Amino acid sequence: MTPIPYNAGQLRNAVSDRYPVWMSIFSLRPQSSPFRLAELLSDVQRTALEFVYPPSCHLCHVELARPASDRIHVESLCSACLTRLVQPAANSCRRCGAPRGPFTVDEDHCLLCRRENYAFDEVIRLGLYRDDLRIACLMAKNPAGRLLSQTLADLLVDAREISFAQPFQAVIPIPEHWIKRLVRPHYAAETIARRISTRLKVGLSTGILAKARWTPKQAKSPPVQRRQQQKSAFRVVGTEVRGKSVLLVDDILTTGATADAAARELKRAGASRVVVAVVAVSPPRV
Ligand SMILES: [Zn+2]
Ligand SMILES: [Zn+2]
Repeated sequence: MTPIPYNAGQLRNAVSDRYPVWMSIFSLRPQSSPFRLAELLSDVQRTALEFVYPPSCHLCHVELARPASDRIHVESLCSACLTRLVQPAANSCRRCGAPRGPFTVDEDHCLLCRRENYAFDEVIRLGLYRDDLRIACLMAKNPAGRLLSQTLADLLVDAREISFAQPFQAVIPIPEHWIKRLVRPHYAAETIARRISTRLKVGLSTGILAKARWTPKQAKSPPVQRRQQQKSAFRVVGTEVRGKSVLLVDDILTTGATADAAARELKRAGASRVVVAVVAVSPPRV
């Protein structure tokens, strides 16, 4: 639940990121012009509020100086929080994003994913789902988290510039069931994907991968059950991904079951390569 704002900066963040209720009406077809119009209106609303309330850091709520740059993260997080959120890419497994030991010989796998038959080819991630990054991911999920989601997308692209330099022909968010989308004005995976697509100048494809059926909340399900729940949960509409290198975007990668099921469908539809981009990867359970 969103905490009640207690100062001007928090109030500004809470109000400015909250979409109007009617925004959810258009969220089923994010590529439609009403959706874009609503996003534009939300930005205008935020800019107007900044005349009254100065911007503040979304994590620690310290007041920010007015940004000299048009980069979103400059205006939504303070430099101390920015530094804490970005974790070094070195020693992360290219295949699953888990931390690797310094003496791991296998270039493409770690001990955790060597026996897994993941349908995706690579994972690009900002860091591990813990500490400040965990808090940021949770805040980005809530209805007021649109700007923070965009911020995290910016941080991800900036921090992993080399990984994103490979050619992609489509950016696709992990979809949510249409009933859930109807009641949620902001969906973190889609907001992050939209921002990444803008930054990479690669088209966002929101209508290709669809959630075929409702799946229960997975947070407390064991890995085996998650795989069962995600089996046949996605379907690909049309033939647009055939022969394409796809960037599949989500906010958090936990066991990899969701990304695996989605990537499997994309590959079945002819995608040549599927790279998963997430803000955070769950630390390995030992
Ligand atoms: Zn801060
Ligand atoms: Zn691995």
